[in-house]
Amino acid sequence: MTVSRRGILFGLGAAVTGFGTAAPPDWQRLRTRLTGALHLPRDPGYPNASQGYFTLHDGQRPAAVARCARAEDVQACVEFAAATGAPIAARSGGHSYAGYSTRDGSLVVDLRDLSTVDVNRDGTATIGAGARLIDVYSALARSGRALPGGTCPSVGIAGLTLGGGIGVTARKYGLTCDRLGSARIVTADGVLRTVSATNEPDLFWALRGGGGGNFGIVTSFTFRTAPATDLTVFELEFPAAALSVLLGAWQSWPIPDEVWCNLDVPGDPHATAWVTGCFVGQEPRVQPYIDNLAKLAGTQPITRRTKQYDYFDAMRHFAGQPDRGSYVSTSRMIGAPIRDTSAMATLLRSAPGLYTQFDRFGGAIARVGESDTAFPYRKSVASMQIVHQVDGNEPAARQAIEHVRDEVGRQYGQTGYVNYIDPHMPNWAQAYYGTNLPRLLTVAGNYDPQRVFAFPQGLG
Ligand SMILES: Cc1cc2nc3c(=O)[nH]c(=O)nc-3n(C[C@H](O)[C@H](O)[C@H](O)COP(=O)(O)OP(=O)(O)OC[C@H]3O[C@@H](n4cnc5c(N)ncnc54)[C@H](O)[C@@H]3O)c2cc1C
Repeated sequence: MTVSRRGILFGLGAAVTGFGTAAPPDWQRLRTRLTGALHLPRDPGYPNASQGYFTLHDGQRPAAVARCARAEDVQACVEFAAATGAPIAARSGGHSYAGYSTRDGSLVVDLRDLSTVDVNRDGTATIGAGARLIDVYSALARSGRALPGGTCPSVGIAGLTLGGGIGVTARKYGLTCDRLGSARIVTADGVLRTVSATNEPDLFWALRGGGGGNFGIVTSFTFRTAPATDLTVFELEFPAAALSVLLGAWQSWPIPDEVWCNLDVPGDPHATAWVTGCFVGQEPRVQPYIDNLAKLAGTQPITRRTKQYDYFDAMRHFAGQPDRGSYVSTSRMIGAPIRDTSAMATLLRSAPGLYTQFDRFGGAIARVGESDTAFPYRKSVASMQIVHQVDGNEPAARQAIEHVRDEVGRQYGQTGYVNYIDPHMPNWAQAYYGTNLPRLLTVAGNYDPQRVFAFPQGLG
C-alpha cells in the first residue's frame, strides 16, 4: 500500500503550505501537543535527555528530545517532522553503535516512558517499545514466562527486535523477532497501525530484521513467550595456544538446540579464549557436551564452571555490562565453516585492543526460511562481532576493527548484522539485508515515500 501525504498536511493545518514546502520547526507548537516533556538545548533536562549509551556520541546535539508518554505523543512528533522536514530519530534503549538514535539536529522521540510489560492470558506479552531488557526479563519471570533476547540489561527491546535479536536461548526459541506476533507502529503519515501476519503483512515482515529507524516508530510489541525454566550457565577458559584448534572444534561442536554458546577471543596473542554458554535444562545434562568439546579441542579447559539458575537469575548472570560504553564495533556473519582456523586466529590477534565474539547459530534460528522474515542470515554458522575499546584514539580503534572486518569479508562474504550497525560498513544495505534488500526497499518506499525517517543507513 502507499501512504498519502494528505493526512499529514491536513493534520497540521497551517504548518504546511503546499507539497514539499515546509515551515521551520516551531518547537513550542509541538510542546503544546505533547503529554510528555520536550527538552530543547537550553533546557536544564537536555544534557541528560540527549545522551545515549555510547560516550563516543556525547558530542551529538539533537535539536529536541521528546519524552513520549503515550502513542499520541509519538504521532504528534511524526506529524511535526513530516510537516517541517525536521529529521526524526526514535530512541528506545539508546544503544545504537552509530549513535543514530541521538543524531545531530534531530527530533529524538524518546520512548523510555512507554515501557509497560503485560503478560496476557494466552501466554503472549505486550511490551512497550521503550522497555529495557532487564525489566522485560524481570516482569516476564514474575509470570513464569521467558523471551529469547540479548544479554545487555539496558538494551532496548525495540532496537533489538527490529534488527533480529540474538540471545542465549536463540537456538532453542529463535531470534527475538521470531517471537513477534504483532506490533503497533506510527508510520510516516502519523497513523498508528497494528501490524501482524494478517494485517499489513509486508510491514510486519519488514519489522522482523529490517532494522531500527526504518518504516516508522514502534510503540509496542506483542510476543509469544515461552515457559521460564531453569537454565545452566557454563564458562570454559582455554589456553591461548589452543585457539586455532578450539575454533575448529567450537564451530563443529555437535550440540542440541538447548545448548547455545559463544567464543570470545581477545586481541592479545597471550590471552586465554573463553567459551561461554547457556543450556536450557538441568546442570548434570550439559556436562557430557562440555566433555565432548574438550575432546574435540584436544585440551581440557583451564577453568570450567557450570551453574544452574532460574530464568531471571541466569539473565542477570549474563547482564554484566557497565552503565555506558566507549568502544567501536563491526560485524560479519560467518556463512560457512572457517576453513583456515590458524589464519583466522592470527587475524583476530592482530591488535591487542581487539575483542571478537562469535555466537553460534543453528537450531530454531535456522528453521526459519531466509525470506520468511527480513533477517536474512538464517543458515549462518555464527555471527561475529569485532570490537575495540576507545581510549582516546578512535581512528586507530576503527582501523583495527575494519582490518578484521574487511579481511573476513574477503574470505567469507560481505555480510553484517544490522544491530551491530557500523557507520563505515562498505555496501551496508547489501551487507545487512542480503537477498531481502529489494523487498525491504519496496516496503520502505510504500510506507515512507517522502523519507520522513531518513538517516545515513536508512532504507528508502
Ligand atoms: C552493550 C551492548 C550489548 C548488546 N547485546 C546484544 C545482544 O546480546 N544481542 C543482539 O542481538 N544485539 C545486542 N546488541 C546490539 C543491539 O541489539 C542494538 O544496538 C540495538 O539496535 C539497540 O537497540 P536500542 O533500542 O537499545 O537502541 P536505540 O539506539 O534506541 O535504537 C537503535 C536503532 O533503532 C531505532 N529505534 C529505536 N527505537 C525504535 C522504535 N521504537 N521504533 C523504530 N525504530 C526504533 C533507532 O532510531 C536506532 O536507529 C548490544 C548492544 C550493546 C551496546
